[in-house]
Amino acid sequence: MNHPLEGLPNQELLERTHGLVRRGRAVEAELLSHLGEVDARQLYLEAACSSMFVYCVRVLHFSEAAAYKRIRAARAARRHPELLPALRRGELHVTAVSLLAAQLTGESCGEWIRAARHRTAEEIKRLLADRQPKPDVADCVRRVPAPETARNAAAASAWERAEIPVLKPDEAGGNREWVSDRAVSAPTGAAPRGPLHSQTSPLGGERYRVCFTADAALYAQLQELRALMRHQVPDGDLASLLGRAVALLLDQVRKRKFGEVSAPKPETPANPAASRHIPAAIRRAVVRRDAGRCRTVSSGGARCDAAEFLEFHHVDPWARTGTHSVDGIALRCRAHNQYEARRVFGEAHMARFRRREGTESETPVA
Ligand SMILES: [Zn+2]
Repeated sequence: MNHPLEGLPNQELLERTHGLVRRGRAVEAELLSHLGEVDARQLYLEAACSSMFVYCVRVLHFSEAAAYKRIRAARAARRHPELLPALRRGELHVTAVSLLAAQLTGESCGEWIRAARHRTAEEIKRLLADRQPKPDVADCVRRVPAPETARNAAAASAWERAEIPVLKPDEAGGNREWVSDRAVSAPTGAAPRGPLHSQTSPLGGERYRVCFTADAALYAQLQELRALMRHQVPDGDLASLLGRAVALLLDQVRKRKFGEVSAPKPETPANPAASRHIPAAIRRAVVRRDAGRCRTVSSGGARCDAAEFLEFHHVDPWARTGTHSVDGIALRCRAHNQYEARRVFGEAHMARFRRREGTESETPVA
């Protein structure tokens, strides 16, 4: 059966989508306004609910996360009604209001609305951390229980799909959870988590708390590194050690992928068309010019900022020209590279190409 929107022209589909988002925002602002009033009148008590949260989950059937966010946002909007027009206009999302709720005062509300306008949740968390920096946190390593088999299997299969190696619990039946960048220990008694758990949160002033789970091999390597680096890092600070290790690896990866070297060899005038391999000097120049990000620009002038899964894209397909030049090559993320290839060669050709060659259509950077 065909999808009901299949025949809709692209432009109309986009216009309708934007229209629905506008309506959704208006409904959300109105909903928060109503939730705030239900909360203030404590009408949840009549529905045999002990709190507004219970009412939202049990009666309104919100998820716990949605209930938490909406209640925080609704209470903030009741205290500061100027939040509602900002929500309606799409300048703030519900998560933004929920994150800002504790900071808002009569005088500061307008300033926070301006500062958080069109920001992502992560950006707002950084903004809050910068204005109220948290202290550095100490390195912490603790043993975490082995994940349940089923959970582990689910995590493993998810990661296998993402083609990322799955970490195994150590022989003693547990993993080491490293809480780094002067990090604090995770709450004790937390539920066992899979070995793939990792998270970062801003502490303000360009500092981050990084928390991840290490397997036995990584734990042993870090211990050895800490011991061998005592002269350079006397206090064994994990963030300093990881910083040096990551810098070395980054250097290596940049050399391999971008052709970056401290003293580049002079260009040889050899025929660059001889192979599909793009000479290092050209790769370096392209990466510098495109600032290491996808260079795709929309018709409205917005640039794709992706820095992952980058590929060197030949503006005139290499298959046609057989040459490499800085002007003839742009950095593209894989999604845009394939989008462009579909436009140039057509969907049917690309499907045949992918079957024959795998999914690579250009020279990958990452
Ligand atoms: Zn892109």
